[in-house]
Amino acid sequence: MAAIELRGLTKVYPGGVKALDALDLAVPDGEFFALLGPSGCGKTTLLRTIAGLESATGGSVIIGGRNVTGTQPGGRDVAMVFQDYALFPHMDVTDNIAYPLRIKKVPKGARRDKAAEVAARLGLDHLMDRRPGQLSGGQQQRVALARVMATQAQAFLFDEPLSNLDARLRLEARTFLKKLQRELGVTTVFVTHDQAEALAMADRMAVMEAGHIRQIGTPAEVFQRPANTFVAGFIGSTPMNLLDGSVRGDTLEVAGCEVAVPDSAQGLLSDTEKIVYGVRPEYMTYSAEPAQGALGGKVVIVENLGASHLVTLDVNDVSVQAVVPEGSEPAVGDEGHAVPRRDRALVYRDGELV
Ligand code: ATP
Repeated sequence: MAAIELRGLTKVYPGGVKALDALDLAVPDGEFFALLGPSGCGKTTLLRTIAGLESATGGSVIIGGRNVTGTQPGGRDVAMVFQDYALFPHMDVTDNIAYPLRIKKVPKGARRDKAAEVAARLGLDHLMDRRPGQLSGGQQQRVALARVMATQAQAFLFDEPLSNLDARLRLEARTFLKKLQRELGVTTVFVTHDQAEALAMADRMAVMEAGHIRQIGTPAEVFQRPANTFVAGFIGSTPMNLLDGSVRGDTLEVAGCEVAVPDSAQGLLSDTEKIVYGVRPEYMTYSAEPAQGALGGKVVIVENLGASHLVTLDVNDVSVQAVVPEGSEPAVGDEGHAVPRRDRALVYRDGELV
């Protein structure tokens, strides 16, 4: 097991695409770390560069205190699981799991023992003679994980390992993978574009944009206090309201309404400065009656979220969304008022959290 450290890591592909731009990152030993970001931001490149499948253009990769920047993938002692599992179709489950040990020239008996031990842990012991084509998607995924575990690498790298599973299996696999990682205590970097997955599984996470890391933190930190408007807009199942506003003495003017300065920005703002006011739809109190500090307007959309509703208000031509508990949702055309929670609202100046 080993910490992973990246210093000034840069990757420029032939043709000039800068996929990683002087990136710094430290993942301590045993941590479950998620990499999240929009398509094309460099997540897979980052993982492949840690694994040695891509060479770095600049900077260094340090695994377990050893600088492996120039080391071949086989010499890095990390194991990577890909999106498509890459199982060998002509080999049974035992041979698929034991394959990395065969490469390492581990004797046959020891290989089979190790494969059986890992398979038992993953609930695959009754499937050892089957070939990948005779397994469900979820079972194939577990075989791919078992193969990684059998290698006893210092670190695991997962590239969207759950993306081929249906929604229910995916939820199961999430819990299972998290538990397994805890038990094994192996440093793990996990790439996903599914933020619910990152929030649920990671000890810490990074949000990337165009080759840069825009925030590193625990899932709670990233969700509650996005460091900039990019992360604020990216994280959350319903996007955060990000509304242009300005400081008016002791209050803020936002979408033509007067709202309170959030707790986190108290004493940090100057009169008349322009800001962006951020509040998640979940952190609003909704009422049909006018209220002080409310963003009031006409209800234009009501979407059913199951146990709650997402209500979109037109507030002086600005869209404002609030999550409203089941039973108290308004109808389209009603007047509605959403009061942001002062302890949860945020203020951004020049795109950065105040
Ligand atoms: P996704 O979520 O869509 O898988 P990603 O965040 O993993 O995306 P990467 O695959 O790392 O993104 O790609 C980062 C950037 O590098 C993109 O602009 C991509 O087009 C480019 N890129 C990736 N692989 C190559 C390559 N082999 N040659 C040239 N450019 C590449």
